[in-house]
Amino acid sequence: MRIAMVSEHASPLAALGGVDAGGQNVHVAALSTSLARRGHHVTVYTRRDSAGLPRRVRILPQLDVVHVDAGPARHVPKDQLLPFMGELADGISRDWQRRPPDVVHGHFWMSGVAALDAARRGPSGAHVPVVQTFHALGTVKRRHQGAEDTSPPERQWLEPSVGRSVDRIIATCSDEVFELKAMGIDTARISVAPCGVDLELFSGAGPAEPRSRAHRVLSVGRLVPRKGVDLVIQALPALRDAGFDVELLIVGGGGDAAALADDAEAHRLLDVATELGVQDRVSFRGQVPRDAMPALFRSADAVVCAPWYEPFGIVPLEAMACGVPVVVAAVGGLRDTVVHQRTGLHVPPKDPAAIAAALAALLADPALRRALGGAGEARARTRYSWARVAAETERAYLQTLAAGADTQRFDAVEGAVL
Ligand code: UDP
Repeated sequence: MRIAMVSEHASPLAALGGVDAGGQNVHVAALSTSLARRGHHVTVYTRRDSAGLPRRVRILPQLDVVHVDAGPARHVPKDQLLPFMGELADGISRDWQRRPPDVVHGHFWMSGVAALDAARRGPSGAHVPVVQTFHALGTVKRRHQGAEDTSPPERQWLEPSVGRSVDRIIATCSDEVFELKAMGIDTARISVAPCGVDLELFSGAGPAEPRSRAHRVLSVGRLVPRKGVDLVIQALPALRDAGFDVELLIVGGGGDAAALADDAEAHRLLDVATELGVQDRVSFRGQVPRDAMPALFRSADAVVCAPWYEPFGIVPLEAMACGVPVVVAAVGGLRDTVVHQRTGLHVPPKDPAAIAAALAALLADPALRRALGGAGEARARTRYSWARVAAETERAYLQTLAAGADTQRFDAVEGAVL
C-alpha cells in the first residue's frame, strides 16, 4: 500500500519533551517505521518549522518525511497553526500529482482538516480515503481546561466535522470511543488500535542510572499543567513524614536542565516544592533524548503519571516495558494499559493523598514492585509492540479500502439502475 501520514505539528524527527512535542511524534515515527517494515511505502507530511530542513528526508528505503512549506519556517505553537492548513494541503496534493497514495492518515484534528482537503483535490477527481487518529479531543480538553484551553474556537465545529467526514477513525483507547460516540460519530466507522512501545529500546535488561537517595520516583513528560506533576510533588511530604528517603526526578521540558530557567511551568513546580519544604527532594532533568530514557526508567522504584486526562499516555507503557511499576491516574487510555494491582496501581485523578498512599505501598514492598514490574513488562511485550499496532492499523486501512470499493460498486449499480 502507499500510505500518506499527515502530522502537521508533530514531526517524527523532532526532539521530545517540549510543550508541543511528545507522544504524537513518537506515535507517527514508530507507526510509519513499522508499516514501512511491513512492506508499505510511507510518506509523512509535516510542516516545515525550521528554514534549514531539507524538503524530503529518506528515513528508510520505503519511508520518507516531507517538510511542507505552510506558514513561517519556525516553531509556531500548535494552537496557532489552523490558518496554514490550506497551504499544507496544497503542498501535500502537489506531491501527490505524480501518484496519489492509497490512503491518507491524519494525526490530530488539524492534520485531519488538511488531509481531507488534499484528499478531495486528488488528481482527476479521485477521492483518497482518509483515516483519522485524533490523539486528543477538543471536547475533553475544554472540559478539563476550560478558559485555559488555547485551542482556536473553530476546533469546536471543525473537529466533529473531521470526525463525520473521514472514512474511518482509529481511536487509541476505549474511553475515546465513548467520547466520539457522544460527538455523534457512528461507531461502525471506528477501529481501536492503541499506541505501542519500542521494545528494542525499552526493556528490563540494561544499565540503570545511579540515584541520589534510597528511593527514586520518576515523572516523565511535557511540562504542561495538565500532566499533574504538581500533584506528585504534593505527595512527597507524606512520604517524607512516613520515613521514606525518596527523591522525585522530573524529566521533560523544552530544552536541557539549564534551559528550564526560562520555563514558566518548571518555575511553578519548583515553587510548589519550596512551599511544601520538599525542594531538596525534587530535581529537574529537562529534555532527555530517547536513547537515554531506558536507563532513567530502570533507575526508578516507580513511575508516576497523574494527568487530569490522558488520550493515551505512552510513558507508562515505556516504564512497564522496562519492568518498573507505575502509579497512574485512572483516566483515559491509562485505564486500558495499566491493570490495577497487576501491572501498577490506579489512583483517582487529582488526588495527591492517594498518590502518596500508592507510592508508600510500593516503596515499602520490594516484592510487590517486582511482581507489578514483571507483569507490566510481560503485558507491554505481548500487547503493545509497534509491529502489532501496525498490523491493527493496516487492518483498519484495508477495511477502509474495502468499504470504499463497496461504495463505488453501489454507486455504479445505482447509476446503472437510474
Ligand atoms: N519524552 C522523551 N524525552 C523527554 C520527555 C518525554 O523522550 O524529555 C517522550 C516519552 O518517553 C514519551 C513521549 O515523550 O515517549 C511522551 O508521550 P506521552 O504519550 O506519555 O505524552 P504526550 O506528550 O503525548 O501527552
